[in-house]
Amino acid sequence: MAWRSKRSVSEPSAPPTVVQKFGGSSLATPDRIFNVARRIAETRQTVERVVVVVSAMGDTTDELMALARAVNAEPRSRELDMLVSAGETIAAPLVTMALHGLGIEAISLTGFQAGIRTSRVHQKARIVDIVPQRILDELDGGRVVVVAGFQGATEDLDITTLGRGGSDTSAVALAVELGAQECDIFTDVTGVMTADPRVVPSAHVLEMLDYTEMLELAALGARVLHPRAVEIGAAYGMPIRVRSSLEVHPGTLICRSQGMEQRPVVRGIAQETNVAKITVIEAPDRPGVAAAIFEALAAEHINVDTVVQNVSHRGRTDVSFTVAATDLAHAESVVQKAADSIGAEGVQSADDIGKISVVGSGIMGTPGVFARVLSTLAENGINVEMISTGEIRMTCIVARDRVADAARALHAAFELDRA
Ligand code: ASP
Ligand code: MG
Repeated sequence: MAWRSKRSVSEPSAPPTVVQKFGGSSLATPDRIFNVARRIAETRQTVERVVVVVSAMGDTTDELMALARAVNAEPRSRELDMLVSAGETIAAPLVTMALHGLGIEAISLTGFQAGIRTSRVHQKARIVDIVPQRILDELDGGRVVVVAGFQGATEDLDITTLGRGGSDTSAVALAVELGAQECDIFTDVTGVMTADPRVVPSAHVLEMLDYTEMLELAALGARVLHPRAVEIGAAYGMPIRVRSSLEVHPGTLICRSQGMEQRPVVRGIAQETNVAKITVIEAPDRPGVAAAIFEALAAEHINVDTVVQNVSHRGRTDVSFTVAATDLAHAESVVQKAADSIGAEGVQSADDIGKISVVGSGIMGTPGVFARVLSTLAENGINVEMISTGEIRMTCIVARDRVADAARALHAAFELDRA
């Protein structure tokens, strides 16, 4: 994380401030924008200083990306930033106008005006500094400040964006810099759930999660929060609340873990079906062989996930690993070349697998969790093809058409079904 706030969250001098972020789906239509304005107005009744961070309306960012590609197959990233940042630049004044309509003093600011300074890496810029003076002045003047999320500017005043989903990161960073008590992320789901409710009907909203659990769930496919927003929250202990803009529900609070002993060992089940497996057969078992394969993939920016290398027989070994199914064709050709150059027997691939994971910080201190995962899958006749574990997670690769069954079985086995 490049950006280091000069402020510590517990600094007592900051007057009570709330930062609320509203995602694109919550702003998709004029009606929804009006609904968001009403939510802000409600907050304003109890909190003096309110900063709002907005995403672009609905699918605006995707549409702008498509427009760019319609005029040039490979648009330059600086111009892409100029273009896609416009989505948020449009949403901020619209929310502000709706607030005016409700009689609330408010002002919109671009990321640049809000003092968000970033690195020069267009499309993936990182916040390097926040100069919040303008925001503070507006708050002192009694105005709600509506900031365009996702965007910032470099030292040379070039406009940048923070990567897809980056307005979460804008919001949490601003919350830290302003010494807010909490950062609310309003979205179109009720909160972070124990599993995907479309697959596990008994899934329910988690009241609380710690940052590492949220990061694991996000990395494993729960797309509720931008991972960098969680990283910043963790670094500064900024509580982040994920909640619905459409219903009144406290949602999920992501914060430093507390009372862990009383909590269930496993907090959530994550699944991913965009997974494929590649096996390099009978590669020579000597130093540098695996490196040759993975370096070739890295050079092509192909992300490798679970890796298994088998025991060697007569100086040869099989190496299997997973990649995103959408990367499979590209990965196969890269691996085939690498396999030829190291003198492996051949390359096989499978596109019918998926990934199921259990996550929870209680896993570390509880023996038998891994055994319970495996016995649950076995009882349901689900074969495990590969396994990888982390401190607070266990991931199994299974047949893609059994991923949903596995999710339901594990959800029940770890007592996540709501009683
Ligand atoms: N509008 C941007 C996107 O769709 C940023 C965001 O929504 O957070 O990726
Ligand atoms: Mg968006």
